[in-house]
Amino acid sequence: MQNHTHFINGLRTEGSERSQPVFNPATGEQTGVVALASAAETEKAIAVAKAAFPAWKETTPLNRARVMFRFKKLVEKHRDELAGLITSEHGKVYEDACGELVRGLEVVEFACGIPHLLKGEHTENVGTAVDAWSVNQPLGVVAGITPFNFPAMVPMWMFPIAIACGNTFVLKPSEKDPSLPMRLAELLKEAGLPDGVFNVVNGDKESVDVLLTHPDVQAVSFVGSTPIAEYIYTTASAHGKRVQALGGAKNHMVVMPDADLDQAVNALMGAAYGSAGERCMAISVAVAVGDVADKLIEKLTPKVAELKIGNGKEKGLEMGPLISREHLAKVKGYVNKGVEEGATLVVDGRDLKVPGCENGYFIGGCLFDNVTADMTIYQEEIFGPVLCVVRVPDYKTAVELINAHEYGNGTAIFTRDGDCARQYANEIQVGMVGINVPIPVPMAFHSFGGWKRSLFGPLHMHGPDGVRFYSRRKAITSRWPTGIRSGAEFVMPTMK
Ligand code: NAD
Repeated sequence: MQNHTHFINGLRTEGSERSQPVFNPATGEQTGVVALASAAETEKAIAVAKAAFPAWKETTPLNRARVMFRFKKLVEKHRDELAGLITSEHGKVYEDACGELVRGLEVVEFACGIPHLLKGEHTENVGTAVDAWSVNQPLGVVAGITPFNFPAMVPMWMFPIAIACGNTFVLKPSEKDPSLPMRLAELLKEAGLPDGVFNVVNGDKESVDVLLTHPDVQAVSFVGSTPIAEYIYTTASAHGKRVQALGGAKNHMVVMPDADLDQAVNALMGAAYGSAGERCMAISVAVAVGDVADKLIEKLTPKVAELKIGNGKEKGLEMGPLISREHLAKVKGYVNKGVEEGATLVVDGRDLKVPGCENGYFIGGCLFDNVTADMTIYQEEIFGPVLCVVRVPDYKTAVELINAHEYGNGTAIFTRDGDCARQYANEIQVGMVGINVPIPVPMAFHSFGGWKRSLFGPLHMHGPDGVRFYSRRKAITSRWPTGIRSGAEFVMPTMK
């Protein structure tokens, strides 16, 4: 049994009161317990981060970047161990866990450029003998609250840039897969990060509420489901903090009649069923335009039925289990609801049994045809391996359908028609668009974020928006005694 503690001031720190079990979703076995921080423990982590801030702020950007360079090397060195931990607590297949680490490391690589990224602007002679420039300074203590589905990558969307900008950090990761954030904290320390700059408090609403309201927390980054994202945004904003809160999704892929159907089908398979559909950029709706639907269903059906599913630590698998027994029941409930509401269940994965993993949280791939916009399985985020095919007569109806949805995280269009693709990119009300790219996750040096109820707050995650979010600009105007004209000025100063 592993004991998942907190990581405060450079040390693993025991929790004092509440805890909850941690499971291996492939076997259903309890593997450990995770501490749930009290308000007082969370306040302690904030105080430690506050105390570490002055010295870290004064550490040169070059030296902060050097910590990130060393951290990158360490994560690469420990890749197998880290990916194994992700698989054993989240369930995703090992190769996918390795991919998650790489996508997280790309943000670390971006943060290694912080001396360049923090540069301000300078103008000589904005007025006679008057110069003006700007600097970008850190905020202080910032907090991150992250979901279960990317226990390494999503924290790494946040803390490398926040820390490289000179802030100190308190991370409240998901309580469902707590190993990774703790190991990343240890590797940051090994990379030379001073104690107190990066802290982890494991916990639930009790510790989150302290982070949202504490006067010493300057900014909050959140990734998770939409109801919680909205709560985080409204609560932390009302307490005067900067907030970026990324929420849930329902991502559509439009398949035009001229698309290469084999390419579209392969793209749908990976995007809908990879990581058992537990990705915020998973495609959960295929919008089949014109006469493409029958051929699409015909090609998808055997592939969905034959998905290779099992314990993600085995080689050659395509899909692992869902995160928890409760989530498995919820996803099966959605499939039942889809059948009740009249959609055609073409592939039914509800009764899947994985030999040797009878107590694991497995469901096979499910494929629905004839899904309509009024159905629950269309409207709500299922977060499981369930693909809904919606048939529409033409491109215009496809766009109207997608633009009417409450979520706007990612979308894709598969077509050979450049005009159509260009128009789609222009008029679709979604934050991230793929043209013949099913999961258009922007690279670390661009910014990641959805529209509508998929993101609350003006700034997206990582890339240039990440640097803006974790720094604040100061504008300085200066002149020296030779540039000062004699006498007091009582009118609005204008530059000469
Ligand atoms: P979740 O919203 O249940 O939990 C996210 C975090 O919020 C966790 O740290 C959790 O402990 C905390 N939390 C949960 N309930 C809370 C409450 N009542 N008050 C305060 N804090 C609370 O999300 P999850 O199930 O861990 O992750 C899946 C969700 O995350 C999906 O909806 C998925 O779409 C979304 N997600 C979005 C993105 C994105 O970039 N938009 C990326 C990954 C995941």
